[in-house]
Amino acid sequence: MATRVPGRVAVIRGLTRRFGERAVLDGLDLDIAPGEFIALLGRSGSGKSTLLRALAGLDGGAEGELEVTGSVAVAFQEPRLVPWKRVLANVALGLAAPDAAQRARRALAEVGLTERAGAWPLTLSGGESQRASLARALVREPGLLLLDEPFSALDALTRITVHQLVLRLWEAHRPAVLLVTHDVDEALILADRVLVLQDGKIAHEELIGAARPRHRDHPDLVSMRDRL
Ligand code: ADP
Ligand code: MG
Repeated sequence: MATRVPGRVAVIRGLTRRFGERAVLDGLDLDIAPGEFIALLGRSGSGKSTLLRALAGLDGGAEGELEVTGSVAVAFQEPRLVPWKRVLANVALGLAAPDAAQRARRALAEVGLTERAGAWPLTLSGGESQRASLARALVREPGLLLLDEPFSALDALTRITVHQLVLRLWEAHRPAVLLVTHDVDEALILADRVLVLQDGKIAHEELIGAARPRHRDHPDLVSMRDRL
């Protein structure tokens, strides 16, 4: 285990994950600061999901040092809602707090799904499912929010709406976000820092100026939104 580093929600040193002979992650180093929005790019099969699973504590097979401070929540490409539980129960799932239902309601309101609290997951649209999945992640008040290609199954307009929602939630709660995407534009529009995973390591890193228009403020999108 790495020594806890103040001012970091995650510290990764020399993380290696082998499947058979192949090291999918091969001595990867990464620090994540509180509240930063990181986009992680990389070819299919480069190990992005493997890295997220390790960060989420869902993979015990990685070697190296991995220290995560605070709670972690994950939202996947497919929302993975439990089909036999209503939307509210899905969001509250696993919450130990006595006010779990109340917190779940609040999270659903934040993603604009109050109306669908009593619905069955299979009756939700793709965008609604993804919003429910975000509510389920948020209700845990994560210090680190891991998003594994959450937008890629959405149509273009729905994707824009969910982008804006993610930015709004990020601004309101300020978790550190690690967003996996294969869309370079999406990475540049949303993130403070863009990383490229290649050959098992962070091969490239780009800091994006804080002054550029965020997606929600982008003039083209503002006018598009006005027309919707
Ligand atoms: P990405 O998310 O970047 O597309 P993944 O992290 O899902 O890539 O996978 C990276 C590589 O590791 C792929 O070649 C994949 O087949 C392999 N891999 C992932 N999980 C397993 C597993 N549980 N067993 C064997 N190979 C795996
Ligand atoms: Mg993946």
